Amino acid sequence: MSNVRVRFAPSPTGALHIGGVRTALFNWLFARHHKGTFILRIEDTDQQRSTDESIRIIIDGMKWLGMDWEEGPTVQADGTVKGFRQTERMDIYREYADRLLKEGKAYYCYCSPEELDSRRKAAMAAGKPPKYDRTCFGRKEPVSGRTPVLRFHSIDEGQTIVRDTIRGAVTFENQQLDDLIIMRSDGFPTYNFAVVVDDVTMKISHVIRGDDHLNNTPRQIQIYRALGFEPPEFAHLPMILGSDKTKLSKRHGATAVTEYKDLGYLPEALMNYLARLGWSHGDQEVFSIAELIEKFTLDNIGKAPAVFNPEKLVWLNHHYIQQSDPERLSGLVLDLLKKDGVVQEGKEPDATWMNKLVKILTERSHTLVEMKTSSLPFLQDSITMDEKARAKHLTPDVKPLLEELAGKLKSLEPCSHDAIEKLFNDIVTPKGVKLGKLAQPVRVALTGGTVSPGIFDVIEVMGKDRTVDRINAAIKMIST
Ligand code: GLU
Repeated sequence: MSNVRVRFAPSPTGALHIGGVRTALFNWLFARHHKGTFILRIEDTDQQRSTDESIRIIIDGMKWLGMDWEEGPTVQADGTVKGFRQTERMDIYREYADRLLKEGKAYYCYCSPEELDSRRKAAMAAGKPPKYDRTCFGRKEPVSGRTPVLRFHSIDEGQTIVRDTIRGAVTFENQQLDDLIIMRSDGFPTYNFAVVVDDVTMKISHVIRGDDHLNNTPRQIQIYRALGFEPPEFAHLPMILGSDKTKLSKRHGATAVTEYKDLGYLPEALMNYLARLGWSHGDQEVFSIAELIEKFTLDNIGKAPAVFNPEKLVWLNHHYIQQSDPERLSGLVLDLLKKDGVVQEGKEPDATWMNKLVKILTERSHTLVEMKTSSLPFLQDSITMDEKARAKHLTPDVKPLLEELAGKLKSLEPCSHDAIEKLFNDIVTPKGVKLGKLAQPVRVALTGGTVSPGIFDVIEVMGKDRTVDRINAAIKMIST
């Protein structure tokens, strides 16, 4: 396919949500697959609700996920955002609106909201569709004291067929379509008009967006035709539902991309997860970005809504954590530790040691936040003791074992995984005691809980001094 040009066109009125970012991803993958152009366009004509901060959040979220664009806005040094914003394109909308006006395909409407409301009610009472009754169509003179809106003169006979790549042909009766407002009285274009002008002037070849816009598409197709352009290809993506099969929302947990970042998800895990929300390639679940780009086509997008499954995301994140290079994970975990004030800037632990720590934590960690939490006993002077674990494992019968271990550990050289393992066995075997009888109390003594990486790894990374101190502190707890 040549000259693929697609766009992600968010309205910057808040966070970048899962649904929006899935739309962005499908557009991005489609562009990359076809070596086309991906455009980020900011639909900010709702001036009341649009903010530069929201644009920055969108840009940061997309950058974090690794979605880049050929054409799009840039954040200036002072934080303002320039380029590819509808508010910078007002002259263009005016020009196209004037064209429709001149050709008799649009007309000024002076009706007040109250008038419209009472006529709508009367139409409904008479069993007619509550659409605009064209009172102002053909009006020669302006109504003084009123600033008009501009309405599109829609075609109200026949049908408009949306040929959707995912849904097939969807037919709309033109009679149901209103003479919609295309320019408001404040001079701003409305969504359906601005989006067409933008898609036309940006030479968009495929419009890939959420199916909440499907009902807008016949109106937009009429505007394309009135302006003398062929509509692009359309692909309306099925919605995303929560596990209870209602529209995904806050009630189902985190929905903003930044929340997932803060919860300790890796961008590649989220990208992989989002790609499978409505798109599939056989039974395959794990895809690298390169593989997604290679395999992504619109044909494999399902018609049925996708169900958001947080457990699968956790599973994928675990997978990507295991695959990640320890140095990268160290950096990410350190960022979290710094944010929490556990590690100070410039006072980072030795990099080789930190990598070792991260390596032993990966197997059990599903998120970076879990890794951070499990790293605390290794970095902080004190531990938080889980009372239940203490009561169960730090009992008088294990005291002699702990004393023997602390005594012998002091002189263990080198204090390596294998040497520690041998020492444990040398202590328990002659007594006919199982290894766990010693390992579990030591785990509680060192980390405060019953879950940790392998105990020999823990001791090796924690180091002899801290280990001995903590075992001695645990022995004291038993005595008292
Ligand atoms: N600004 C619209 C939205 O955020 C995008 C509509 C479109 O892609 O045409 O839903």
